[in-house]
Amino acid sequence: MGFKRVALHIALHYHLGYVGQWGSFFGRNRREMSIRYLIAKGLSFAARLVLKYIARRPAANFPGKLALYIDPHCIYESVKQLTYGSVVVVGTNGKTTTTNLLACALEGAGYRVACNTTGANLDSGVASTLLESKKADWAVLECDELYLASVLGQLQAQYVLLLNLFRDQLDRAGEIDVVQKSIILALESSPNSTLLYNADDPYCAHIAASISNKSIPFGVSQVLGLEQNSVVDAQICQNCFSMIEYSYYQYGHLGSYACPNCGFSRPEPFYAAHNCKLDADKLLFELSYANNTISLEGLQASPYMLYNYLAYASAALQLSCDPEVIQQTIHAFAPRNGRLELLEIGGRKTLINLAKNPVGFNQNLEIVLANPRPSALALFINDKEADGHDISWIWDIDFEKLAKRPDIKVFAGGIRKNDVLVRLKYAGVHACLVDSAHDFFEHIALLPNAVQAYAIANYTALPEVKQELEQLERTGFSHKTFSASQTRLQSVCYGVSEPKQSKELANRKPLVIAHMFPKLLNLYGDNGNVTVLRKRLEWRGIPYELREINACSPNCLDDVDLVFLGGAPDREQRLASIQIMQMKDQLHAYVDSGGPLLAICGGYQMLGDTWLLDNEQVPGLSLAHFETRRTGSARKRLVDNVVLSVQGIKHPVVGYENHAGRTYLASSQQPFGVLISKTGHGNNDETRQDGIRFKRVIGTYLHGPLLAKNPELADALLASALEYQAQRCGIDALLLQELDDAVELAANDYMVARLRA
Ligand code: GLN
Repeated sequence: MGFKRVALHIALHYHLGYVGQWGSFFGRNRREMSIRYLIAKGLSFAARLVLKYIARRPAANFPGKLALYIDPHCIYESVKQLTYGSVVVVGTNGKTTTTNLLACALEGAGYRVACNTTGANLDSGVASTLLESKKADWAVLECDELYLASVLGQLQAQYVLLLNLFRDQLDRAGEIDVVQKSIILALESSPNSTLLYNADDPYCAHIAASISNKSIPFGVSQVLGLEQNSVVDAQICQNCFSMIEYSYYQYGHLGSYACPNCGFSRPEPFYAAHNCKLDADKLLFELSYANNTISLEGLQASPYMLYNYLAYASAALQLSCDPEVIQQTIHAFAPRNGRLELLEIGGRKTLINLAKNPVGFNQNLEIVLANPRPSALALFINDKEADGHDISWIWDIDFEKLAKRPDIKVFAGGIRKNDVLVRLKYAGVHACLVDSAHDFFEHIALLPNAVQAYAIANYTALPEVKQELEQLERTGFSHKTFSASQTRLQSVCYGVSEPKQSKELANRKPLVIAHMFPKLLNLYGDNGNVTVLRKRLEWRGIPYELREINACSPNCLDDVDLVFLGGAPDREQRLASIQIMQMKDQLHAYVDSGGPLLAICGGYQMLGDTWLLDNEQVPGLSLAHFETRRTGSARKRLVDNVVLSVQGIKHPVVGYENHAGRTYLASSQQPFGVLISKTGHGNNDETRQDGIRFKRVIGTYLHGPLLAKNPELADALLASALEYQAQRCGIDALLLQELDDAVELAANDYMVARLRA
């Protein structure tokens, strides 16, 4: 979906929401409105029949799309048929599950409910659902975060249930604050909607604090004591943009937070979960509200489901559902939509689930890791429009945890299976490529049935995976079917490189890598670049030290051999830049003495004379002469896959760009590379050049992470760090030994073939 379209929706419906009178705003009289609506309704009905009974295809979106084309206000019109109104569920993770639970509970309470059960959550999906439903009492609708702005003004829902906001499909949204702003605008367009929100998520709490709608917080009021994830969002205060402090995290950035600067903090939940017990296959918790407490039991025991159950139960209680009905609904809930769907294929338990962002994926991994027995896990990652063309987020997932469990056999599938394999290789996980879910089952055919299978897939990969596995479940599965594949498990798997133990190198001075502000400067898998550098040193037995720099201190670059700066959303970039500017002299001295430095996107922008923050020009380090300006054109962000030709690097350099700033080099400066892909922009809308290269410095817009897809570049950088170390310490420079880069180059080749102009 075009970003422009979202912006337009936001602008349009923001305005419409205030006006309230849809008809008069468009100068349409009632008659015209109802004629349009009737035509829209009639045609969407016909489209649904054709799709369902003739084409035999799902009709979750197209009928609504058609209706919206004919009558853009058909949602508003169709809401009138609801006896009580609607509840809209938004948030990055858990929408479909929570929506379905709530719809079932309302049905259990005797209401007729309209619901987009399959997860068709764009405006077209919402319109299709409402137009299809006959007379309903309630509509329970999940809605995409960015589409809420175009839907809520028309729906004027009684409740908006906001589950969480995590980094997700940033190529659609740009940066998380864009999603926040869009939700705020949506709520302002529906002033009578009550917001039920997750108090443990500072992004959600900030939304509640920014609107005049009534709002009710829910949260888990007990430290769950879970293992933490390595990449955590919301490191800055949502109110004053200084560093925020957490007293504990649950998972991701959910937890208890308070800003020492302005006092913004976790609101006390009205619906509070406590006494939570997460057993192997059962979840128990108490839910307190006002002066009441109810006990609930869930069948899926994960912290992620705890939050889903809590959100669902809070909304159901708010709608006066009986606690007994709330509990019964949880027990009766057996999803068949690929969300934690449990199958039994030829005696083998198989769990399918959707995961489309790092936090969701990490939660899925926790479910797999919680099973103490050997298991088989297949990961299917596509990069179609609905998934986002950028898959660098797989570098923000803690796959390293799988490396400690060699009894879990891991498989990589989907369009970007090569990239998944690269990620797994750098996480130390042994894995095999598979072509499909069926192929996955062929690979595990000879493993005993006690080995549970897990298939985790992102958006567009999921339907096919689910269909194939459900088919296998129906037709029955026999070992005979797959006996030909007996040897496959060994034949196509990729081993993991082991760290090399080298006696000669053991006493060598460690190569020092300075990672600048890793908590703030890390977007689209940027920290993965450091993982790649580390691993490529380990595989050669070269000692190194990784130094994370989280505050400016004098002389902290004195013994450093390589500096890395990642990219960041504007606000985080601004905060990091205050500290980085205090290191200006140090960085000049380091670069002037030949110190190698790699800077990505936001980090790259800071190397120049000025960069943008909204409309403000912020001074940069002036390590080289270039400026980053705001665009004058209608296109807001430059977001795409990019392939570069880079001098001195044989293989094309592959990466992903997502930035608002446009960078213009002074005529004396050399770019890092020249675009050779049909997609992408690089520095700006005009030059088809990317980045900058001077001394031993590389600045580029390419995320990805850049070095994972371009091992030759990673080694070139390491070689210059070793040269600099030799010069700095008066020792011999080490020559890098060749590594087996077949997996990395397969990922590179695939993207080059797809993108080359
Ligand atoms: N916030 C900066 C921009 O949008 C940098 C973004 C990034 O690092 N991806 O221009």
